[in-house]
Amino acid sequence: MKKNGLNRPAGFSTRAIHEGYDPASHHGSLNPPVYLNATYSFESIAQGQQRFAGEVPGYVYARVGNPTQSVLESRLASLEGGEAAVAVASGIGAITALLWSFLESGDEIIADKTLYGCTFAFMGHGLSRFGVKVHFIDLTQPDTLEAVMTPATRFVFFETPTNPNMRLIDIDQICRLAHAHNARVIVDNTYGTPYLQRPLERGADFVVHSMTKYLSGHGDLIAGAIIGSADDMLNVRTVGLKDMTGAVLSAFDSFLLLRGIKTLELRMTRHCESALALARQIESYPGVESVLYPGLASHPQYALACEQMSAFGGMIALELSGGYEAGVRFMDAVQLAQRAVSLGDAETLVQHPASMTHNNYTDEEREAHGISLGLARISVGLENIEDLSADILQALDQASQ
Ligand SMILES: *Cc1c(COP(=O)(O)O)cnc(C)c1O
Repeated sequence: MKKNGLNRPAGFSTRAIHEGYDPASHHGSLNPPVYLNATYSFESIAQGQQRFAGEVPGYVYARVGNPTQSVLESRLASLEGGEAAVAVASGIGAITALLWSFLESGDEIIADKTLYGCTFAFMGHGLSRFGVKVHFIDLTQPDTLEAVMTPATRFVFFETPTNPNMRLIDIDQICRLAHAHNARVIVDNTYGTPYLQRPLERGADFVVHSMTKYLSGHGDLIAGAIIGSADDMLNVRTVGLKDMTGAVLSAFDSFLLLRGIKTLELRMTRHCESALALARQIESYPGVESVLYPGLASHPQYALACEQMSAFGGMIALELSGGYEAGVRFMDAVQLAQRAVSLGDAETLVQHPASMTHNNYTDEEREAHGISLGLARISVGLENIEDLSADILQALDQASQ
């Protein structure tokens, strides 16, 4: 990146706009070119051999790397405070590429009990078929960690805040405990984004993202990323991505992500402001039993939120006192907000896990995941806040009728 002329490290949004790309090397083109190619030709067989052996830098085949994707990867590494990044075709592709790169049968993982549904399916149902044991525990209570650590524990994995019920996990403390037993820590930072929290700076070994969400910010693609040390990322690229998942991100989606990330700071600032305002408004609203938002003083882990996050994000979970029926009425009543899964878009999205993402869970399974019948989730978008809160309040009125 060009110097900022100030003799100090460039700030977050400066790096989000400039890192990893110099127009002067590309005919002055302000935006990175989209390299739509599968393969690369070599000047000589000697050069090809050296590239395949990793002795000289350069591309060999687009499943392993592409120049548009490389710009995105250096930008991600810079924003998360890591040495390197690997961009892949989905958030689940990021988690699987990372774990397949390092795990062997007989290894163990400790994961928090609340995970994104497909992450839970991969860990709970997928990995066990290959001899990898996953212990699901409540990582909001770090003391429970040591009891399940064994010499076979390779990784501790969690999201913070967790999806969908907004529990927070203490990154510093979990890293200390895990490292004392030679286990490495993976944080899914999808909800926080590097603008609000940077787990690598707190000791985590890896960050993973669903870039489908805030990093894209526009709901127009599916993508994931892994960020960590240069050695680890070389391994993830040449084993997990190249040989095991093959889940490569396209050059065009890399370009769209670069475009989205330019406004990450602006968008997150607005998501956070609107979510805090809305959370405060609905906290004591009739028919609302509780609101879980890390920026409310009533959140059980408010102190940790203030310590660990620079602001509190755009996701709100609310508990409706009328249970399942109220959840359905609320969902059917929204007009501006959209009934949809996913999150982090410009549009406000509402989700009712008991009737949507988790409707095939048994009552016991739902309870074990901390998802009650009246739990609704709002991904607060970028609309005018008065319009948005009017819509949510009228839907709450109808839900409690
Ligand atoms: C969406 C999501 C994922 C999965 O990402 P995809 O891009 O849909 O594959 C993983 N973790 C969290 C927290 C998510 O919200």
